[in-house]
Amino acid sequence: MKEKVVTRFAPSPTGNLHIGGCRTLLYNWLFAKKHNGKLILRIEDTDQKRSSDAALQNILEGISWLGLNWDNEIVYQSNNIKRHKEIALRLLEEGKAYKCYCTEVELLEMREEAIKKKKSSFYNNKWRDQEPKEEDIKIKPVIRIKTPLNGSTLINDSVQGPVQFENEDLDDFIILRSDESPTYLLASAVDDHDMGVTNIIRGDDHLNNAARQYQIFKAMNWKIPEYGHIPLIHSSDGAKLSKRDGALSVSDYRSAGFLSKAILNYLLRLGWSYGDKEYFSKDEMIKYFNVKNIHKSPARLDDKKLLSINSYYLNAESEEAIIEMISESKGIKISEGIREKIKLILEHVKTKAKTLNELIELIEYLLLEHPPIISGAMNEILNPEKIELLGLFHRDLSRITNWSITDVANLFEKFTNENDIKLIDIAKPLRIVLTGYIVPTGIYELVYALGKKDTLTRISEQLSK
Ligand code: GLU
Repeated sequence: MKEKVVTRFAPSPTGNLHIGGCRTLLYNWLFAKKHNGKLILRIEDTDQKRSSDAALQNILEGISWLGLNWDNEIVYQSNNIKRHKEIALRLLEEGKAYKCYCTEVELLEMREEAIKKKKSSFYNNKWRDQEPKEEDIKIKPVIRIKTPLNGSTLINDSVQGPVQFENEDLDDFIILRSDESPTYLLASAVDDHDMGVTNIIRGDDHLNNAARQYQIFKAMNWKIPEYGHIPLIHSSDGAKLSKRDGALSVSDYRSAGFLSKAILNYLLRLGWSYGDKEYFSKDEMIKYFNVKNIHKSPARLDDKKLLSINSYYLNAESEEAIIEMISESKGIKISEGIREKIKLILEHVKTKAKTLNELIELIEYLLLEHPPIISGAMNEILNPEKIELLGLFHRDLSRITNWSITDVANLFEKFTNENDIKLIDIAKPLRIVLTGYIVPTGIYELVYALGKKDTLTRISEQLSK
């Protein structure tokens, strides 16, 4: 019987959930779903100084917002430190690892020497076959694993293809530090084994680590997982991503008004394709996903593309779903009356917005329970002439009895003709009085959705000042 697929997502809680990590998560999730396997979340929190609760919360919230849920309990790597140490000691006992008593000065010298000789590894194996003398024991040793001295290590990477590493370039790397804390290379390999991970999909910045972790698996006679290293995401100009690239965490995208469906679709296509198919439901993603089609070169961020995907999904959402998103984003409960008003206008404004935030801007005036507060700058536009026009409009509006978008349009047409003005002459002051700002929503839709009663109240509020 074929082994059950187990993948894992292993973020370090040292910062917010980044979109690069998020794409790694998505690919692991898809791979697990596609093969009826499991995705396990492992929090790599052994670096207590750099880990924070805030980052952990951000990661967990990000994952649940994206709906990429994991199976089983979360594995906190810090709970497994004893086990990591046990493996390091076992390797030591079996002569597959050794204690190294090098001083910092010695290590520095080795580094300088390696730079001079342009060698990619620096440790000169000083303690590989040497017993310590009494004076050496004063130094707290680290434990290094013995890597093969010659030959090569082949990683049959499912994304990159076969990648060969010359073993002489692999240092006898540290697995246990002098304070007895495990290194990432050890902890991650041990956990992957203990969790039964069959497939590791992660960023290609870890490709070199695969050749090293392979040595741990080999030394322990453990089954080596299948690796797939995906190219990193670069900024739109092709450079490596840095913090300066602006909003890059999932939570930033969320607060900028992007929908999780759009983010997922965008990330899926950023580095993977299925013909020229653009939009994928989650079921389609699972159906069509395969590691083979992951691109081998770095993907570039494309904000325009993301915006266009976002507006596609925003437009495809039902009215109820959009109202829920507005309510969640604003952190308010929206009353039945206001919901009805939003529904009247949504179809007219939905296509104008690319993000939820832009959409909210177009309908925000409907969320106000009271007439808006009008700022000084806006008040200046409301000169006596405009106030007089508003008075006349109030009178005409109060006389109409039917309420459809056409009735409202007719009212405006009649009003502008009778007063010999342009639409903007009344639309601009009305926008201010009704919304408090210059909302770019069409004036007919704006008045229609607000309703006769509230429109009249907001105008009279201004007239009575
Ligand atoms: N904690 C590592 C990171 O965030 C994960 C490494 C791995 O996937 O093995 O880069």
